[in-house]
Amino acid sequence: MKTFTKSFTQQEPIPETAIERAVDVLRSGRLHRYNAEPGDKTDTALLEEEFAAYMGLPYCVACASGGYALHIALRAAGLKPGDKVLSNAFTLAPVPGAIHNAGGVPVLVETQDDYTVDCDDLRERAAAFDARFFMLSHMRGHIGDMDAIVRICEANGIVLIEDCAHTMGARWRGRRSGTFGKVSCFSTQTYKHLNSGEGGLLVTADAKLAARAVLYSGSYMLYERHSAAPSAAEFAAVRLTTPNYSGRMDNLRAAILRPQLRALDDRCVRWNRLYAAVERWLGRATGIIVPARSPHEHFVGSSIQFSLPGFSDGEMRNFIALCSRQGVQIKWFGDAEPRGYTSRFDSWQYLNGGEDLPRTRKVLSTLCDVRLPLTFNEADCDLIGEIISECVADIRPMKNVAI
Ligand SMILES: *Cc1c(COP(=O)(O)O)cnc(C)c1O
Repeated sequence: MKTFTKSFTQQEPIPETAIERAVDVLRSGRLHRYNAEPGDKTDTALLEEEFAAYMGLPYCVACASGGYALHIALRAAGLKPGDKVLSNAFTLAPVPGAIHNAGGVPVLVETQDDYTVDCDDLRERAAAFDARFFMLSHMRGHIGDMDAIVRICEANGIVLIEDCAHTMGARWRGRRSGTFGKVSCFSTQTYKHLNSGEGGLLVTADAKLAARAVLYSGSYMLYERHSAAPSAAEFAAVRLTTPNYSGRMDNLRAAILRPQLRALDDRCVRWNRLYAAVERWLGRATGIIVPARSPHEHFVGSSIQFSLPGFSDGEMRNFIALCSRQGVQIKWFGDAEPRGYTSRFDSWQYLNGGEDLPRTRKVLSTLCDVRLPLTFNEADCDLIGEIISECVADIRPMKNVAI
C-alpha cells in the first residue's frame, strides 16, 4: 500500500529576511502601527503601499483579519442595518459572518457544477430581494465569469465586493482578481497565499470608501500616517461620523508580510506546478470530475477540488477514511457535521430564512478538497494524485455491487 507521510497543514517557514525584519521591529518596541518617529513610515504603512502597488490600486488598509476586512468593506461601502447582501452559498464561515457582523442580511446564491456562482440565480435573486450588495467569494480560488458578474451588478445597481482569500495573485483575462469589485479583501491567515498568522488587506480605488475604511479600522485620528490612503480633505467629511471598530494590523505582522509579498508571484507558479501534478492523475481517473476551468481564469492552485458524482454520504466517508489511512487528508465540503471548518450553508443557522439551495447542496455532497502547501514537491503531488485515484477505484466496485 502506497502511503504519503508529509503534513497537509505544514506551510513553508517564514523567509529569513522576514524574520530579520520582524526581529528589528521587536527590538524597536514599536509594534503599534502609529508608533513611529516623526517622518518615519512604519512597516504597516509600507505594506499598504506595496500591496496597493501590487494590485495597481491607489488605496489599501491593513487589518487584523480577512473576515474583519470584509466586515468593514461592507460598512465602508454604505451598508445599512437590515440591507440584503447577496453572497455565493459555496464559501467559508467568515463570509456570512462578516455580513452578519456588519448588520446585513445574507441572501445566498446557488452554485454551478464548476463550483462558481450561478449567474442566472444571481440575476433572479438580485431582482427578487432588492439587494444592493454582492459579496463574491472566489471560494478555493475558483473565479466565476467575471464579465457576466460585473454586468449583472451594474444592471441592478449592486455594489460588488470581492472576497479574494484564495485568489491573491490570480487573474481573470489578465486583470488581477480583486480589481473588479468596488472594494476587495484578502486574508494573510496561515493557510492563505501570504502568512502572518492572522491578517487582512482591503483594497479599493474609491477615495470616500477608503477614508471610511481607515477610520473604521481604528486610526485614532492618525489617518495622515496612512500613505496608501486618500488626502486629508477626504477624511474631513467623515472623521467625526465614522466609528472606530479597532481592527488594525500591527508592524510585526506587516514586517513578516513585506518580503513574502515580493515572493508571491514565484509562489503562485510553484503552486500551479503542484496543482498540475495532482490534476494529471485526477483528470484521467474514472469517476473523478475536476471541472474544466475557463481559459480566462488564471488561478492559483494552492488547493485542488474534485467531485465524485454518484457517491453516497457513506461512500464519501469510506473514501476519505481510505485516503486518510494512506496519509492523504481530504476535506469533504458536504459533511452534514462541520468538523474543523464549515462550508455547508445549513450549518450557519443564524442566517435568516434557512432556505434550501438544492443545486449547491448537490454540488457540496461529493465535493472534495485537498490542500497543497508549498512544503510539497511535484513528486509528492504525483503520489497524492495516485493514491486518490486508487481509493476512488477501490470504492467504485463496491458501489456497482450495491447497485
Ligand atoms: C480564510 C477566508 C476568509 C478570511 O478569513 P480570516 O481567517 O478572517 O482571515 C474569507 N473567505 C474565505 C473563503 C476564506 O477561506
